[in-house]
Amino acid sequence: MPPVIRTQPHAGGWLEVVCGPMFSGKSEELIRRLRRAEIAGQRALIVKPLIDDRYDVGHVVSHAGAKMRAVTAQSGGEVERLAGGYDAVGIDEVQFFDDAIVGAIDVLVSGGARVVAAGLAQDFRGLPFGAMPTLLCVAEFVDKLEAVCHRCGGPATMTQRLVDGRPAPFGGETIQVGALDSYEARCRACFAPGLDVAAGALAHAG
Ligand code: ADP
Ligand code: MG
Ligand code: ZN
Repeated sequence: MPPVIRTQPHAGGWLEVVCGPMFSGKSEELIRRLRRAEIAGQRALIVKPLIDDRYDVGHVVSHAGAKMRAVTAQSGGEVERLAGGYDAVGIDEVQFFDDAIVGAIDVLVSGGARVVAAGLAQDFRGLPFGAMPTLLCVAEFVDKLEAVCHRCGGPATMTQRLVDGRPAPFGGETIQVGALDSYEARCRACFAPGLDVAAGALAHAG
């Protein structure tokens, strides 16, 4: 692939978006970037949504065990308040925040912060997730990571939700905290839509 020229702005802040399916290394990459900002002597903070407080609320933890201190926020407005005054702000699972996250990030960036937002671009149906389309649109830098397809070992760009080992219904809730569902990274060819799609849900969705 040809090299891509990326020039950092000379002044002010900017937005970096890191997206990809589950297991693609978004949290690892977020931790890596924020750790380096800390090493450079910058004030760095990671924020994540409070979706499941049974999990480690004080850290961002990757599937491979990489860990960094984090604070939780319930809304875009709270992210803006918590992150004010930091040089580098990481936001994990950004797709779970309400639409106010777009304005909050804009305020932080306009105030001179470097914001790194990591999240799922597609939900388990393969549809755009939350504010991600807008964030991808306004970001200065975008990275789309790939996982390894759990089925074929190829590059995976999608997240498969399974219920009892079978594709979850298209009509299910997008966010299910504490459910017994499991998730796999899949390539487009191995991704299987829910059985209700075959029954016409896709036709209704247009
Ligand atoms: P994400 O935040 O995108 O869900 P993480 O950063 O938490 O991803 O985890 C990435 C790590 O998960 C990889 O470095 C690897 O060790 C592990 N892993 C487990 N399953 C897979 C997979 N199918 N593809 C890629 N990495 C995987
Ligand atoms: Mg993650
Ligand atoms: Zn595959």
